[in-house]
Order: sequence, then C-alpha cells, then structure tokens
Amino acid sequence: MIRLVDIHKSYGSATGDARGRVEVLCGVSLEIFPSRVTAILGPSGAGKSTLLNILGTLEQADSGRIIYDGVDVTTFKDKELSRFRNRHIGFVFQSHRLLPEFTIVENVAMPAMIGGEPQSRAMEHARELLERLGLSHRLSHRPAQLSGGECQRAAVARALINDPEVILADEPTGSLDSANRQELQKVFVDLRDTLGTTFVVVTHDSSLAEQADRVITLVDGVIKSDVSNS
Ligand code: ADP
Repeated sequence: MIRLVDIHKSYGSATGDARGRVEVLCGVSLEIFPSRVTAILGPSGAGKSTLLNILGTLEQADSGRIIYDGVDVTTFKDKELSRFRNRHIGFVFQSHRLLPEFTIVENVAMPAMIGGEPQSRAMEHARELLERLGLSHRLSHRPAQLSGGECQRAAVARALINDPEVILADEPTGSLDSANRQELQKVFVDLRDTLGTTFVVVTHDSSLAEQADRVITLVDGVIKSDVSNS
C-alpha cells in the first residue's frame, strides 16, 4: 500500500514575492490500494500532475510524507531516491518518450539494465512483456516505425519491466485516437487482473475513468470526491 500524508505544495511567483505564491496542493492525504486502477480527475490546473509527480518522487513536496509499504521515501537522499524510483515506480506519460535510436525491445529492457539486471535477462523479460502486450512482431523496430498506440503499449511494457509497486500514468490516452484509447484501457484492466498491477492514472478520458476501480476528483489542490466502483 502507498500512502500520501498531508501533502502541501506551492509554487513561488516569478519575482519571488511571497504574496505571489500559489498553493497547488493543500494537505492531500491518500491511500493507494494494490491491484487497483485509481483515476485522478479534475479541471486543468487542479494540481493533478503535481500530485502524480510527488507520488512518483519526481517532484518534492513542501511538507508531508510519502510512504511505500511502510517506508517513508521522503527521508531518502537523491541517489537512494533514484534507485528506489527505478525499482518501484513505473511511469507512462502522454507522449511515449521511447528513445528513437533504440529498438522497442531495447527501450523496454533499459530500466532493468540500469537497475543492474544482466542484459540477456533484461532482454528476455522485455520480450515476454512485449508479447503479453501484443507487440511480439515489433521487437526489432524503432519507435518511429510503430503507430502511436503501439508506442504507448511499449511504454507500458517499459514501465512494467522492474515489476514496480505502481504505474503512474499522466494522460496516457491523451494523444491517442478512440480505438487506441480503448485498447490501452483494456491493457490496464488486463494487467490489473493478470499481474495484479496497481495504476494511478491522471486523465480527462471519461471512458478510462469509467473503467477505473476508484475515481478521485481533485479541485484547487483538495480532494473533492473519492468514489470506489468496486
Ligand atoms: P493539472 O495537472 O491539474 O492541470 P498541475 O499540477 O499541472 O495541474 O498544475 C497546478 C498548478 O500549478 C497550475 O496553476 C500550474 O500553473 C502550477 N504549476 C505547475 N508546475 C509549476 C512549476 N514548476 N512552477 C510554477 N507553477 C507550476
């Protein structure tokens, strides 16, 4: 289980004037349950991406704690935090962010190799994941040779490679057409059901939210509603 406890975050004004500070997260506390798809909805500027980045340890909160299975990661120093992030958190963004000069299987294997896994094992695992996601015919292609939907599925495989505690996805269907949006939704639900993957997904996509086990609505840095579908 992952817990956020009383997270506060504000951004300063360009001039550094305290009066210009904007409070983006105003004491958010949240528990993320394993093997569930949790969707975070809310208007633009509500603080959704900031919340996801803080949950993913990509951004630091001003105060509050982030606890992964009882371990408070806010006490970690930079190097320890990078290692933790690599091992325990998978990321999927609106754009796939695959590296254009590497093949799909190399892209997927890379976080495992960075984490110290031998190349042959990392590549084998990457192949297995890509097969699971229906991309076994694309292993040696480069990202530019794949469709947007295929790239996004490869990005999900890359996020899964280190068997993370959670996959954090920020508008993952935002650049996809409706057929590919549905395909990616199905991938999330299938992975939850088969591998027990935990997802936290920031989205404007109402049909993705409908598929989620839980929908949290954030407005002006505060949780306005938290509804479980299951
Ligand atoms: P959402 O994802 O809900 O659209 P964000 O978390 O991206 O909202 O942003 C919330 C607010 O914080 C917005 O007003 C945005 O302009 C501001 N903000 C986000 N990141 C920064 C930053 N690095 N510096 C200053 N302001 C920021």
